Amino acid sequence: MVLDETYPIVDFLHNSCRFFAHESCGQCTPCREGTRWALEMIERIKAGRGRLRDLDLLAEIGDSIGILPGTTICGLADGAAWPIKTALAKFRDELEDYIRRTNPAGYAATDPVLAMGIHADDRVLRAPLAPPAEVDPCGAAGPRDAGLQMA
Ligand code: SF4
Repeated sequence: MVLDETYPIVDFLHNSCRFFAHESCGQCTPCREGTRWALEMIERIKAGRGRLRDLDLLAEIGDSIGILPGTTICGLADGAAWPIKTALAKFRDELEDYIRRTNPAGYAATDPVLAMGIHADDRVLRAPLAPPAEVDPCGAAGPRDAGLQMA
């Protein structure tokens, strides 16, 4: 793949992570989860909510998925990992600069972030997950009971 010097590395990583998250068949947990987590992190970085800590987490994903570390059964995960590892090795300064510039108030944060989910159409949701629906501990008035009346 050839990019000219004006192409933002964060956009390259977004395209790459999006492709591999979509292509993962899901059999191997490190590939299924790793490609999705990498995409979610890049989406968040692109949205101006990245932290420098995210680059370490991306590196951890890149080192943990694939046949080379021995955690998956095909090479797709290695294909997903190499762009991440190469971007971090060659263009970490550009990524750090992007994060500092787009998230001046939060780039140094290290606390966990809220979970995000991915729609079937690959659009990342940025809202926190909804709390679980309240359950009646006695089992009364559930949806199946609606309309039933005692004689
Ligand atoms: S490594 Fe290959 S087999 Fe495993 S989940 Fe990824 S695409 Fe599927």
